[in-house]
Amino acid sequence: MEVTVKGWIRTRRDTGSFSFLEVNDGSCLANLQIIADETLVNYNEEITQLSAGCSVVVSGILQKSPAKGQDVELLAQTVAVQGWADPATYPLQKKRHSLEFLRGISHLRPRTNALGAVTRVRARLTVAVNSFFQKQDFIQVHTPIITTSDCEGAGEMFQVSAPGEKDDKPFFGSPAGLTVSGQLQAEVYAQAMGQVYTFGPTFRAENSNTSRHLAEFWMIEPEMSFCDLSCNIQVATDLLKFVLQDVLDNCIEDLALFDKFIEKGLIQKLRDIVDKDFVHITYTAAVEELTAVADRFEYHVEWGVDLQSEHERYLTEDVYKCPVIVTNYPATIKPFYMRLSDDGETVAAMDILVPGIGEIVGGSQREERLDVLTKRMKEAGIDTEEYGWYLDLRRYGTVPHAGFGLGFERLVQFATGMSNIREVIAFPRTPGSAPC
Ligand code: ATP
Ligand code: MN
Repeated sequence: MEVTVKGWIRTRRDTGSFSFLEVNDGSCLANLQIIADETLVNYNEEITQLSAGCSVVVSGILQKSPAKGQDVELLAQTVAVQGWADPATYPLQKKRHSLEFLRGISHLRPRTNALGAVTRVRARLTVAVNSFFQKQDFIQVHTPIITTSDCEGAGEMFQVSAPGEKDDKPFFGSPAGLTVSGQLQAEVYAQAMGQVYTFGPTFRAENSNTSRHLAEFWMIEPEMSFCDLSCNIQVATDLLKFVLQDVLDNCIEDLALFDKFIEKGLIQKLRDIVDKDFVHITYTAAVEELTAVADRFEYHVEWGVDLQSEHERYLTEDVYKCPVIVTNYPATIKPFYMRLSDDGETVAAMDILVPGIGEIVGGSQREERLDVLTKRMKEAGIDTEEYGWYLDLRRYGTVPHAGFGLGFERLVQFATGMSNIREVIAFPRTPGSAPC
């Protein structure tokens, strides 16, 4: 079969009157082996000068490979060099580079096996997320990136202003910022369309330099009318299982690479997530587990405090060794829109914690009662005039509804085993760093 391939050289090896070129075009992990023999017109001048990073267009005959390690190889008829890469300065050499080193060259790192594989798995997860919601008849809504609703921001909202903007005459009529969540706007659409989701970039001026926080990340936020906390848990569980099954079905070669070099046992971990039930406990039960071993932790834990990452990871990694759904958090540590329980102390919140990461999903049933919501907003110091539109949703045809946010990069981390979130987004934005 005659084929043409276009890609970048990974390695060249010469034996007698042949050169073996390993070419990768990004479509999959495996390289294609090209056999170029000395009868090719540019053999001496060009082919034997090729090195890692050079781009080529190769035409020839695809044939069964006699050698082990590959099914097919390409016997070249022409090798056209598109661009050279000086081996004296090209940073990607044949040896394995550390992920930290690669972070410093984010414009070249997708050319490596590991980052290429992350890129494909991430793209596949995007497809899987959209197909999950499509199959369940959700409507996708594109919620705004620039927003004037800062009640959610809690000091984490980046400000947006126009050049020369005066404080008393803001461009958008009132102070604006980059969205920290599309939830409030998604709620608007849920109360017209039934089940909606938004999947887009989200921004938080997190000054915490952790392995699970970015200043710019992507979030999947479904919002469902006629849905309570247990329905919410069901959707989140089904979504996680569906998308992880999808990458097992479609990205096994890339997952095998991660299993070998990044997280031993990754594939089995993902299969277990798909096959086994998640554990469900209340916040109160979680706090009991944690206080029993309080001296293990850096941060103090008692009923009424928010769980820290170390607490979350202890529950999911040491106690249950599987995903854990924690529900019914104290109202005082959760936002005003979460539905107040009959006990008057807790809200219908749910977080999903997974091994290696901690919180991957945060959600709740929303407060649908006008009087309770108004009271909660006032307690939180939120201007109820300004959020009249949000209260209108409770004035006109209110319904029980629920939703959650799934951090997309944390999902990609979980699926690839990457311990640092900076590895799973193309150009990570963190305090002090925004490459390219
Ligand atoms: P955390 O306690 O880990 O900071 P959070 O409680 O601030 O999370 P939510 O506001 O509930 O998180 O956001 C929903 C989801 O978005 C989280 O479960 C997580 O998966 C993801 N997420 C939140 N903040 C970030 C961030 N800075 N970078 C990447 N993902 C994030
Ligand atoms: Mn946070």
